[in-house]
Amino acid sequence: MTRTISKLSREEGGISISNGNGITIATDSFSISLDPKSASKCDYTFVSHAHIDHVHVPNGKSKIIVSGETKELAKLRGYNLGEVISEAPDTELIDSGHILGSKAILIKDRVLYTGDLCSRDRAFLKGFKGTSCETLIIESTYGRRHYVFPSVEDIVVEVNRFISYCFDSGRPLILTGYPLGKAQLLSYLLRDWDPVYVIDSIHRMNDCHVKLGVDLREFELFSSSKAFEEKAKRGPWILIAPSTGGKSSFVRSMREKYNPIITTFSGWAVDSRYRFSMNLDKAFPLSDHCDFSELVDFVRKCSPSKVYTVHGFASEFAAHLRGLGFDAEPLEHGDGENDYVSQRTLTSFSH
Ligand SMILES: [Zn+2]
Repeated sequence: MTRTISKLSREEGGISISNGNGITIATDSFSISLDPKSASKCDYTFVSHAHIDHVHVPNGKSKIIVSGETKELAKLRGYNLGEVISEAPDTELIDSGHILGSKAILIKDRVLYTGDLCSRDRAFLKGFKGTSCETLIIESTYGRRHYVFPSVEDIVVEVNRFISYCFDSGRPLILTGYPLGKAQLLSYLLRDWDPVYVIDSIHRMNDCHVKLGVDLREFELFSSSKAFEEKAKRGPWILIAPSTGGKSSFVRSMREKYNPIITTFSGWAVDSRYRFSMNLDKAFPLSDHCDFSELVDFVRKCSPSKVYTVHGFASEFAAHLRGLGFDAEPLEHGDGENDYVSQRTLTSFSH
């Protein structure tokens, strides 16, 4: 169901925003659909990045605006976006700092849609610090005060210390995260460890990053073979694998064979109950999203006269922004539905 949220008067430029199949912006000269779940009828469709919940199968009627990297990464995941464009009149794509190729879009120099957003510099990714706009549509995955992450540098120091401790104790590690985004960050940040293996889907994703110009070391492909069993006997090792709960059959069989420490990397790790609910041994709060205070800083930098929040704690974050004097409201209701309890279905091998 489509709900029109904002219809500005002609004097204000005639831009309207509605929420239904993704977010639709209608200007006086074109319409554009933002991250729809299915093909749209708008003049343009913007795909912000290649995570599965942001791509769709196009029908060829709407011109797809997307970065070159997202097109390639989406193709690798089975989504052929067809003929695409990387720019359109009166729009500007800006790196959103979330994963390789992820973009925010500024429409008519007035409406900024962030897509998934990270303002922190991490490994090969530069954070998006914000840009001036009139209307801001911002994701609020971690839009609850409680979600504040340590610095990336501090997390990396802690992770290296933890790996050293495990290796000294003769324990191998399985490090899990989204196969697109987190797995490449881990591959980059932990490139000096040896031996490191990767699961096939991550090997392919890493390869694609290298082809797109990211300096990633090539790790050996993991296979559950006799050859690996022999190598595993030589001493502790690291395996980078897609997110999966500790109860998955893969983790269960690895636990039986090798007794590894199962670790994950996610902003939800700020909650101590997260790793227990996922049945994991350790969780580090390394995220590809802004934390709460970074979201607030981002809004301040954009200095918008209207803010719409989407995803995660949309209502709670909008209420916080109103307390700071911003005119803010959620584009969708149902706070907390995207927290990690329901995210367990998303932390699958495919995100
Ligand atoms: Zn994403």
